Amino acid sequence: MTRCPSCQITLYHNEEVCPLCRCVTEEVDKREETRLRNLFGESSFYPNVQKRQKILRFILKLVLFVFVVSEAIMVSINYMTKVSYPWSLITGLSLLYIYLFLVYWVTYDSGFAAKVGLQLMITMVFLLMIDYSNGMHGWSLQWAIPGIILLGDGLVFFLMILNKSRWQSYLLLLLLMAICSIAILTLYFVGTIQIFIMPLICSGVSCLSAFGAILFGGKRAQHELKRRIHI
Ligand SMILES: [Zn+2]
Repeated sequence: MTRCPSCQITLYHNEEVCPLCRCVTEEVDKREETRLRNLFGESSFYPNVQKRQKILRFILKLVLFVFVVSEAIMVSINYMTKVSYPWSLITGLSLLYIYLFLVYWVTYDSGFAAKVGLQLMITMVFLLMIDYSNGMHGWSLQWAIPGIILLGDGLVFFLMILNKSRWQSYLLLLLLMAICSIAILTLYFVGTIQIFIMPLICSGVSCLSAFGAILFGGKRAQHELKRRIHI
């Protein structure tokens, strides 16, 4: 039996993640479990939400199909009219951005941390693609994306303070940003980017905050990591 520290609900089937808010659950001790079972009897199953998800998934597929068809048409027009400027690439990227946003709102009606994380990731990918479509000058990797990561670090710090009782739910987000920033810094060493000042700052800030959170987070941090990524 587990318990969600955020929603304060008890879960009878040892769910590791709360079905309502996606927060990592805590174990209920044996004595409390017996007490609850005596008090409320055996559980009924969590209501089936699969039907709603099925419909939403179908809508997403439909949207994707329509977007792919319209983009194909636009690429053809772009090619046939012999306009040298690849405007169809811009429309394609915009459609992709809209689609990712839809996926994000439909799939992740979950915890706040996941939402923030996905939003940051989508923005990073989009910036990279705009840079790429304009001839890949590297500004996205050298300045914009590290800037987004730093912004994310600041946001997480703020959210952790604001949400003291569940600060650990943002731990994975911190780790994710540390990994992204190291990946960008690596690009400097392999010669993909030339200016490393922003990637270096954001790697330093991200890695130190993730390390600090794990080091000082104690049991709660360990528990979060264990349940989230099974280590
Ligand atoms: Zn919950």
